[in-house]
Amino acid sequence: MPGSEPTREVFANIAPWMQGVFFLLICLGLGASVWEFKLRLDRWKSGAPGELCREPQVWWSRLTTEVLGQRRVRSAARPRRSGAWLHVALFVGFVGLFVGTTLLAISDKGPVHFHKGVYFLGYEAVMDLFGVALLVGCVLAVYRRTLTRPASLGHTAADLALPALLGAITLTGFFIEALRLLWDGTPPETARWSWAGFALAAGLSPMVGGEGGARAAHLTLWWLHVVMITGLFALWMRTRLSHAVLATLSVLLRPTDRHPGELSVVSLEKVEETGQVGLSTTEELTFFQRLSLEACMECGRCEDACPAFASGKPLSPKALIQTLNGAVRSGAEDLGTLVADETLWACTMCQACVFECPVRAPHVDLIAGMRRHRVAEGLLSGPPAQSLRRLGNQGNPFGQPQRERLTWAAGLNVPTVEQNPDFEVLLWVGCAAAFDPRAQRVARATATLLKRAGVSFAVLGRSERCTGDPARRLGEEFLFQQLAQENAETLTEAMGERRRTIVTPCPHCMNSLRHEYPAFDARFEVMHHSRFLADLVATGKLPAAVSVSGDVTLHDPCYLARVNGETEAPRAVLVAAGLRVLEMPRHGERTSCCGAGGGRMWFEEPAEQRVNRLRASEAAGTGAGTCATACPFCLNMLSDGATAVGGAQEVADLSELLLRALDRPGESEGRQLQ
Ligand code: SF4
Ligand code: SF4
Repeated sequence: MPGSEPTREVFANIAPWMQGVFFLLICLGLGASVWEFKLRLDRWKSGAPGELCREPQVWWSRLTTEVLGQRRVRSAARPRRSGAWLHVALFVGFVGLFVGTTLLAISDKGPVHFHKGVYFLGYEAVMDLFGVALLVGCVLAVYRRTLTRPASLGHTAADLALPALLGAITLTGFFIEALRLLWDGTPPETARWSWAGFALAAGLSPMVGGEGGARAAHLTLWWLHVVMITGLFALWMRTRLSHAVLATLSVLLRPTDRHPGELSVVSLEKVEETGQVGLSTTEELTFFQRLSLEACMECGRCEDACPAFASGKPLSPKALIQTLNGAVRSGAEDLGTLVADETLWACTMCQACVFECPVRAPHVDLIAGMRRHRVAEGLLSGPPAQSLRRLGNQGNPFGQPQRERLTWAAGLNVPTVEQNPDFEVLLWVGCAAAFDPRAQRVARATATLLKRAGVSFAVLGRSERCTGDPARRLGEEFLFQQLAQENAETLTEAMGERRRTIVTPCPHCMNSLRHEYPAFDARFEVMHHSRFLADLVATGKLPAAVSVSGDVTLHDPCYLARVNGETEAPRAVLVAAGLRVLEMPRHGERTSCCGAGGGRMWFEEPAEQRVNRLRASEAAGTGAGTCATACPFCLNMLSDGATAVGGAQEVADLSELLLRALDRPGESEGRQLQ
């Protein structure tokens, strides 16, 4: 131990020429990866112009939470939890050792030698901890790739070789430490701080043949260690390890210009200038899209969460990303030959893939872009094309005449904005609740509850048209823009200068009005009816049930829970209705689609591929007598699903359940105004 303070010689037993070779090899290895990174950067830069996040405070927030905090990785859905913790162990071990080794090099070759004293002792202990974490992660990763082999995970030879190589580097590192402790005379009270190497040294001591044997073995293993590290550095950007760089960049640079519920606006001027609508070739992919495609680590989380994939449709969001990435890398251009129409139209736009993806790949934006091009090319036919024609001609996808918009309100005396110009709440009914016979009961229940709470409200009646959400999700962007423009003008006139709120029972309408209409100068407070009803109960304007009358399970609509983060209000309404909520395995933000989104409501599909059956089975599995919904489309799909799976479960909107509870004599408490 040189000097009085505990420390160690960094390159003890390594001749100066060997150290020179070591640094040369490391530089060559890193140089190979830097060169590979440059090739990738050129590829991303050759893409179409597009947004990138350039806000340092957003970078910092994402760096601390998503990259260093591993928030998305840690929050993996249930079947992936063990894989998530395995990744955290690998990440902590790898980053810790990388930073620690860099600090060691700075101390050794820099002007100030700080690798001594208390710092040195703590460093040794913590670095052993990182080493053990990395080793455990590598062993579990090899186990997972060889024995458990989850189907949605990538399974190439390189996927197995990488954790094996990392594990071997870590293991040789521990042996080098242990052998050094056997010959460099470190006193036991200092050596103990290198606790893993110290324990290993005790086991190796009888086998190495004294100090000379330990020195020789130390040098041999050191060379093996160096060669493996050089190989790792050289292959860094060519293996899955590249995601350490690419995923970080993808997370940091993801544009912040849009809410997840908002699809990008296509400008007519741009279409006239380019003669192009949507995505037709890989050349039109932006820098961020190209980067995020390359950042995909084939973890399969998107595929696990995808209702289209689960129902046997020809869509895997993971395969889609991989296909596009392969095309960009190989220079293939025509997306029409790479991604089949059936694949594109299978998507329900539920956003589960985007929500789960740790590298924030923009699956839905890509699918929407490709759909736009194919719709413009006239490649959409059959019932969904017919629903678009109805939207254009009648202002709703059901093809009903506008004069029937208020049929649902027969006998309820629901005022229009002309009849009640002083209204505080505009009830935006939505097409499904206005025209679909089953969903009309949702509109009736909501209006009745508003009346009972004494809310001054009104409806647009014949002036309300579809928000255009189905058109936009199906890819008919200009029909959406036309409807949005018309509705924006109607709303601006109806809402006037006063502060008023739009309340709607449809999460798709809410999402569109809230996030997509501001682009058409229509900015209003928009609430889902669950939130509004929950607030009415909380403020005593609607009474709450005094006793529990049954069990219910809640199907969270994707565009309410996942996309807009509202999971508490629907449950509060159900509790107010005197129901005990039994959760499905997939609930809250991790809900699973009913199958109607993305325009799928209008597609015909074989019985065995129906998403609503999967979800209805999951709801029935809770044993609850009722499945509550909070969306007229979900209500429709799950009612059909429940019938198809032959269960006895009732399917009802939460507004119907609350109204039913209030009508039960002696079952509610609170102030009832009307
Ligand atoms: S949005 Fe939903 S249906 Fe579409 S690919 Fe993603 S998970 Fe699948
Ligand atoms: S796209 Fe995202 S979630 Fe899907 S496999 Fe790639 S990294 Fe995983």
